[in-house]
Amino acid sequence: MRLKGKTAFVTAAGQGIGRAIAEAYLREGATVTATDLKADLLEGLDGATCFALDVTDKDAVTEAIRNAAPDVLVNCAGFVHGGTILDATDADFDFAFTLNVRSQFHTMQAVLPGMIERGGGSIVNIASVAGSIVAAPNRCIYGASKAAVIGLTKSVALDFVTKGVRVNCICPGTVDSPSLHDRLRAMGDYDEARRAFEARQPMGRIGTAEEIAHLAVYLGSDESAFTTGQAHVIDGGWAVG
Ligand code: NAD
Repeated sequence: MRLKGKTAFVTAAGQGIGRAIAEAYLREGATVTATDLKADLLEGLDGATCFALDVTDKDAVTEAIRNAAPDVLVNCAGFVHGGTILDATDADFDFAFTLNVRSQFHTMQAVLPGMIERGGGSIVNIASVAGSIVAAPNRCIYGASKAAVIGLTKSVALDFVTKGVRVNCICPGTVDSPSLHDRLRAMGDYDEARRAFEARQPMGRIGTAEEIAHLAVYLGSDESAFTTGQAHVIDGGWAVG
């Protein structure tokens, strides 16, 4: 029980990586608040407190996080915009940055005062290896937003390192999730797109959400007590080159 005695708050816990993290946190003994834009996706997360939460709604986010007073905050909500800079509109840019970056800005603003008062906490932001670590084709806005998540993570980590608050981000490579299948289908030939996405990883496969959850358990637990401000890459070797 690596998270026994800890309370955790997870955004976008309905499916994919967020769901796997919420399930792993429950298995490891945490008291979990699991939230998602779509409440129905949270069904089956037995033992968690579940409710709908749109992370772009600052007031709702602030209230929910202050009430939950978590020891561990996992910021998982995010959206992949596809296309080059010439395919992207201002609206696409604003949507991606609001959902992928500004939401984490607000959740961290909401959680930090309580964590400081209680003597510490761990924040785990989901970034991506695609962005400032490697460039992925047609991921201009997405990559820029996930690079911003890494910058935000490092900055908050440094500013609150003496308060017992640790802030890390996870940078996954290609991970099996419902939205990944949507993206593969949107590329036209699903099988060909899947082979190309598998080939990005020198390991020759796509990762699982559970593999990402293992790292999130480590970062949420006291096992990682000496780690802060880092971008933890978990990508099947993609960034090795
Ligand atoms: P996903 O994209 O399949 O699911 C995303 C979840 O986010 C859904 O449950 C959705 O309802 C929820 N969501 C969407 N908008 C929301 C909002 N405004 N408020 C709250 N919840 C909202 O899941 P995934 O692919 O595992 O992605 C999760 C995170 O991991 C994202 O931040 C994504 O960028 C990141 N990531 C994913 C991959 C990958 O290959 N799957 C790789 C690197 C990083």
